Amino acid sequence: MSEAARQTAKETTSGKPKTFAADAFAAGSPTSGLAPLSIPRREPRAQDVQIEILFCGVCHSDLHQVRNEWKEVMPTVYPVVPGHEIVGRVTKVGSAVTKFKAGDIAAVGCMVDSDRVCPACKAGEEQYCESGLTLTYNGEDKILGGVTYGGYSTGIVVDESYVLRVPAGLDLAGTAPLLCAGITTYSPLRHWNVGKGHKVGVVGLGGLGHMGVKFAHAFGAHTVLLTTSPNKAADAKRLGAEEVVNSRNSEEMQKHAGSFDFILDTASADHDLNAYLQLLKLDGTMTLVGAPEKPAPVSAFTLIMKRRRLTGSAIGGIRETQEMLDFCGKHGITSDIELIPIQKANDAYERLLKSDVKYRFVIDMASLK
Ligand code: NAP
Ligand code: ZN
Repeated sequence: MSEAARQTAKETTSGKPKTFAADAFAAGSPTSGLAPLSIPRREPRAQDVQIEILFCGVCHSDLHQVRNEWKEVMPTVYPVVPGHEIVGRVTKVGSAVTKFKAGDIAAVGCMVDSDRVCPACKAGEEQYCESGLTLTYNGEDKILGGVTYGGYSTGIVVDESYVLRVPAGLDLAGTAPLLCAGITTYSPLRHWNVGKGHKVGVVGLGGLGHMGVKFAHAFGAHTVLLTTSPNKAADAKRLGAEEVVNSRNSEEMQKHAGSFDFILDTASADHDLNAYLQLLKLDGTMTLVGAPEKPAPVSAFTLIMKRRRLTGSAIGGIRETQEMLDFCGKHGITSDIELIPIQKANDAYERLLKSDVKYRFVIDMASLK
């Protein structure tokens, strides 16, 4: 039988690939918490890579979506299996796969497909795909139907074009958060050319923020943490911050008014943007990556008086994600993590809400077997 015929034989009469069962943790409603669930995964098609998940990071976006806090923009479809910071081992590849073979270490981030033809995709910015981005979870599963299921699971099957290579030598559990927290902070810092001679603020020392501090420092910027948790000061300095400002102390904040070139705002909860915008100097830029539930008012005058810019940024494209992983491989950068069994995921969410994370929870997927 030819390879093409073998592939076709794997498909059911409906044209959909056959499926196999994988173990996962899912939430059945905004208030149910996470509990075990068996989910279908497709048998690999010619271009697919099957991955046994070893580690999956816990992003605050998982919590937002499990609790349907983004219902206005992307309502959660239940049951939801979160997880988009995935590192694992390749167990099987389709006949057309060229980048991976069984046994390789591979990684998957926040997206598993896009339309590949729009200007954004052609520019390697698939995260801004104009018609067809498929999110790793709570996205439309265009192959099996229904929704996609994320990385709180024993395995996943992904088109190789959306699978990343992990540089040798990196700790695998500490690498998982790079797939979202890493690229989401790396990409805007690169886009706005942050580097030597710049004073850069990072709002919040959580999963994203601590990677923002590491990257801003690695790019040569004078890095300042703006935190609601002054007890994180020593850690922030160890991670690469030159200064730490208590953002709840208006006198401390005022000392830095009009002095920042760039601020990366990673805060997950509602906060006053104007308090941070007024820290920017003439033509300074603040980029929001944190995505609190409610919209925040912006004072026009705060922007007008110093021609300040307020911008946003979503994760990063596949090419840039690989560039970021390779940068981390070269510079020995990983996330500072607390490894947890999956049974502690609900507790981890409660701790995220108290800013009690050092600085990313990562699930050891062996705990799900
Ligand atoms: P996290 O680990 O929970 O960290 C969030 C941090 O925000 C906290 O540790 C805290 O740091 C700070 N914070 C909390 N409440 C605050 C407040 N009221 N004012 C100022 N700072 C506050 O969350 P994460 O996983 O890093 O995610 C952060 C946000 O980014 C979430 O909203 C998430 O959904 C979003 N996100 C966006 C993208 C994207 O593509 N744009 C990608 C991933 C995640 P301190 O204790 O230091 O104050
Ligand atoms: Zn995330």
